[in-house]
Amino acid sequence: MIKLENLYKSFGDIDVLKGINLEVEKGKTAVVIGPSGSGKTTLLRCLNLLEIPNQGAITIGEKELQFQSGTKLKPTQMTLFRQQTGMVFQSYNLFPHLTVVENIMEGQVVVLKRSKTDAKKRSLDLLAKVGLSDRAEMYPHQLSGGQQQRVGIARAMAMDPKVLLFDEPTSALDPELVGEVLKVMKDLAEEGMTMVVVTHEMEFARDVADQVIFMDQGVIAEKGTPEEIFTLSTNPRTQQFLNKVA
Ligand code: ADP
Repeated sequence: MIKLENLYKSFGDIDVLKGINLEVEKGKTAVVIGPSGSGKTTLLRCLNLLEIPNQGAITIGEKELQFQSGTKLKPTQMTLFRQQTGMVFQSYNLFPHLTVVENIMEGQVVVLKRSKTDAKKRSLDLLAKVGLSDRAEMYPHQLSGGQQQRVGIARAMAMDPKVLLFDEPTSALDPELVGEVLKVMKDLAEEGMTMVVVTHEMEFARDVADQVIFMDQGVIAEKGTPEEIFTLSTNPRTQQFLNKVA
C-alpha cells in the first residue's frame, strides 16, 4: 500500500531525511519511533505532501510520485494523491464554530461532494465507532481533549482514505485521556486499516505495530517486528534510545 524509495528531504542546509526506504502492506500498522529531531514528523508530512521531498519516490496505492530538485507537481496531481491519506495531528484542529457532526461532515460535503444526508449518516456511523454518538450536536470546546482527538480520527476516516497517518496523536493529552484514543487506534488497526503512527507510546508500538521503525538522524536505523526491536535488537542506537524512554 505504501512504498518509499530513497527519499530525501532537506530544509535549506539541514538534511532531515537521508534516503528513506520503507514498505507498508495493506492492512498493516507501522509505528515510527525515535529521538526528537530524527525526522519522524517530516517523514509523515512527506507522505501527505505537506512537505515535498527533494528526491526519491512515494507510492501510495496505485499512485506513484517521483521527486527531483525543482520538480513542480500539478495541484490536481497533489490533491488526488493527498486524498488517499487521512492525517491525525497532535493538536486536533477541529473547527470551533461547527458542531462535532458538522466537523466530520465538512470535508465530505466540500471535497468529496457528498450530499448532506449521506455525509451526516457516515459521520454518525463513525461517531458510534469512536464511542461518541451522544456528543454529535456538541461543540468542540464542550469535549475533553481525548474526545476531541477521537472526533479528529472520525473526521480523517470520513474521507475514506487508503491510509491513516498519525502524528503524535496523544502527546497533547492529559495522561488519563491517552488510553481512550489509543484504544480507537487499536480497533482501527484490528479492522484492517493501513496506518503509519508516529508516537512515544512504546506499549502501543509493542502491542499494535506489525512493523516498528526506529529513526535516528534522518535514517531508518533499524526496522522489524516489535519483538525484533524491543526484545532482540542488538543495535546500540536502538538500545540507547529504548533505555532512555523506558
Ligand atoms: P521528529 O518528528 O523526529 O522530532 P522532525 O521531522 O520534526 O523530527 O524534525 C527533524 C529536523 O528537521 C529537526 O532538526 C527540525 O528542526 C527540522 N525541521 C523540521 N521542519 C522544518 C522546517 N519547516 N524548516 C526547517 N527545519 C525544519
